[in-house]
Amino acid sequence: MNSISTKNSVIYFNSEVYSEVNNYIKTKNPSKIFILVDTNTHDDCLPHFLAHLESGDIVVEVMEMPNGEDHKTIDICSGVWEALSEYNADRKSLLINVGGGVVTDLGGFVASTYMRGISYINIPTTLLAMVDASVGGKTGVDLGALKNQVGIINEGEMVGVDTSFLSTLPQNEMVSGFAEMLKHGLVYDKTYWNTLTHLENLDISDLDGLIYDSVVIKNKVVSEDPKEQGLRKILNFGHTIGHAIESYFLAHADKTPLLHGEAIAIGMLLEAYLSTKTCGLSTSDFENITEGILKTFSKVPITIEDQKIIINLLKHDKKNSHGVVKFVLLEAIGTPKINCVVSNELILEAFKHYSA
Ligand code: NAD
Repeated sequence: MNSISTKNSVIYFNSEVYSEVNNYIKTKNPSKIFILVDTNTHDDCLPHFLAHLESGDIVVEVMEMPNGEDHKTIDICSGVWEALSEYNADRKSLLINVGGGVVTDLGGFVASTYMRGISYINIPTTLLAMVDASVGGKTGVDLGALKNQVGIINEGEMVGVDTSFLSTLPQNEMVSGFAEMLKHGLVYDKTYWNTLTHLENLDISDLDGLIYDSVVIKNKVVSEDPKEQGLRKILNFGHTIGHAIESYFLAHADKTPLLHGEAIAIGMLLEAYLSTKTCGLSTSDFENITEGILKTFSKVPITIEDQKIIINLLKHDKKNSHGVVKFVLLEAIGTPKINCVVSNELILEAFKHYSA
């Protein structure tokens, strides 16, 4: 698989990943190498990564954080900043993030801010991080229940996508990552959407090429608009309502937290409904979207009370301006429209349709 050049870095795949990481280390000669993992990637991914890493005389330190979205916090960042400081990390140190989107988002943020910025590399180990989180330079953490409220856009030195890491990934996490691949089809490429929705199951060997295609789509969008002034907003399809649902389920002890992709799948169904009412999305496209998403994602019960609180959370969405909630909707599959405004009544109607 050919590497993909981004604005400031390169994404390598499978066999090329380790030779390029090792080459980078040889050329840049960092003062120390730090590897950030979480509890699971420490056990499932780190041994494989270390077996391929050639660090020569450079000291390598491993830092482990607890796994899961509820640890994507500024408190964990503080712990990592302190560990870097205790291990005498300096401006020439390199941080390598080996993990899912939580590790790459948080590690990227820590690297972007420690001593006003050190170099970092992302080695994504979940499907979601491979096709989405590790690419494009968005880094950050949650603020309480509010998703990604604090962060910075800053691309790392390189991304290394080794799909063999997926062999230990639980099936529900595979499904979660698949949501972002579906989104790439919906906002950019109908043919890609059709291919994904005709897959029989999420088999790693079938997914390999499709992961590559997803990264190509994400990179094309991000390269044209790295700071999310316009086009990049299309990647937020499903995320305006999806993030609010994710935050709500994360913050309420009586709810089982949803995985990121599970919340985004609901967000895409609701926002597709809004698209039919305000952007001319055809009934056949809407049915195609509904069928394609529900083939992989089951419906989740959301009460009227839940819906009202979720709608209230929309005011924290980062695309909002002057207090107005801005949605990305679809005119057709593959044709998104940014900066759409819809009424709360219509959002409630979309929930009602979803729950029916
Ligand atoms: P995650 O990082 O929490 O990983 C999911 C789970 O899988 C974790 O328990 C992790 O320990 C485990 N895991 C990771 N790799 C494994 C492997 N190979 N084998 C076994 N277990 C493994 O979640 P995620 O779904 O990867 O990422 C979600 C996060 O990504 C969210 O915080 C979301 O906001 C963020 N995100 C960021 C961007 C971006 O552009 N920066 C885009 C999309 C999503």
